[in-house]
Amino acid sequence: MICHDYKSALPELLLDPAAPSNASVREHLKSCPACNEEFQSLEATFTLLDSWQAPEPSPYFDQKLAVRLREEQALPAAGWFERMRSRLLFNTGRQFRPVVAGALALVLLVAGGTFADLSGFPYPDKAPVSATVNDLQILDKNDQALQTMSLLLQDDGSSSIDSVVATPPRS
Ligand SMILES: [Zn+2]
Repeated sequence: MICHDYKSALPELLLDPAAPSNASVREHLKSCPACNEEFQSLEATFTLLDSWQAPEPSPYFDQKLAVRLREEQALPAAGWFERMRSRLLFNTGRQFRPVVAGALALVLLVAGGTFADLSGFPYPDKAPVSATVNDLQILDKNDQALQTMSLLLQDDGSSSIDSVVATPPRS
């Protein structure tokens, strides 16, 4: 085996260092600084990935999204383009539904990860924030303030507040 082959075997070595099939790679790493360096950097990358945590969606995200969806359903379609688009999205028959569901799930994942800002979608200048969403956003801010406070206090009393606040009611 040459270095190139050893390098492609490095991830396997990292995942299962004690495997008998990796013995030759382990031996090679002892004598080859280039491969060893590659292995170290791969290990560092994996360590970094282990410590990475996906951000939580903001509290009340589900409720806010549900309110937005109800508002969008209640709005009349804007014009022929909008009508055509919503027909394509929702009325094309069952064979497209998995695709649409998949796309929506992707949108939800991305939106959830990035603190969904749906305020401009899809009627940029016609959709003022409704009272319900406004209330939820205020609750959201209060919640964050409470969490910050309980973090600052860090005593027994704060944990009870925290546990109440950290589990908003699911609709
Ligand atoms: Zn090598």
